[in-house]
Amino acid sequence: MELRERAYAKLNISLDVGEKRPDGYHEMNMVMQTVSLCDEVSVSTTEDGRISARCNLRFVPSDDRNLAVKAARVFLDAAGKAGQGLSLSLHKRIPVGAGMAGGSSDAAAVLRALNALYGAPFCTRELEKLAERVGSDVAFCVAGGTALATGRGELLKPLPELPGCKIVICKPEFSISTPELFRKLDSAPLRHHPDTAGILEALERGDLTAVCRRMYNVFEDVGDRRLRTVAEIKSRMLDFGALGSIMTGTGSAVFGIYTDAKAAQTASRALSRDYKFCWIAEPIGRVLSFEP
Ligand code: ATP
Repeated sequence: MELRERAYAKLNISLDVGEKRPDGYHEMNMVMQTVSLCDEVSVSTTEDGRISARCNLRFVPSDDRNLAVKAARVFLDAAGKAGQGLSLSLHKRIPVGAGMAGGSSDAAAVLRALNALYGAPFCTRELEKLAERVGSDVAFCVAGGTALATGRGELLKPLPELPGCKIVICKPEFSISTPELFRKLDSAPLRHHPDTAGILEALERGDLTAVCRRMYNVFEDVGDRRLRTVAEIKSRMLDFGALGSIMTGTGSAVFGIYTDAKAAQTASRALSRDYKFCWIAEPIGRVLSFEP
């Protein structure tokens, strides 16, 4: 029996970091958005009692370091199916180390696929709880859509959908290490914060322009030399008519939001002359229903 799932990428409409907590994690406050760029994940049962993974990218680990494998193990344990053999296949399109939650989304897709395969033993909320054990961003990726993520990123509040638009995503060749950015953030106090409340109000009104004007990611201001490239891509996104442009997560991918599909195409074409990884995507709503 084989099940296929799309694993959609996430973008940060905003990213704010608060106090460091006693457990070492930072208090996060993020508006997250699922977008149409996706990996393809397939899960099939086997008789050999092992969980194995294959991936089209050779440098992605296929053992327990792969979040998809970790998710499969967490699910089988919770469902009382430990020892069941599984074969996972990942076709990755989401760039790795981009701040787009590629690995977390693969893990969430495995949780959804296994839940479907075993006749839905868990509701959305329960799947999100299992996801927390796999990684901080995995819980959001279970249902996706537009959501406010707080705590480590695992406390989720569904928000009104982002109005329809075209999103140009561009990733420079380099990746930025997440622990390194957090260390930099700890050594220099933040000067600016996003107007998260303003973004929530704008989403309530369905006002895309007001959302885009308020987009901000605190990691863009930690003084890393490579962020100059990020700033340059942002300027070009805006010059091509983006309503707003920021880096997502800990980078290095940058996105710009457009209402005009032609402007988005022009921006993507121009940027792809200098950067190999450029895509045009659209927002995607929740993939699982909300249970209060
Ligand atoms: P985030 O937005 O959650 O910070 P990211 O885009 O920065 O994520 P990923 O692309 O998810 O990062 O992966 C980062 C690291 O995780 C890579 O070094 C990779 O080896 C490891 N990894 C584990 N599982 C996966 C997976 N299924 N796909 C891609 N990378 C994975």
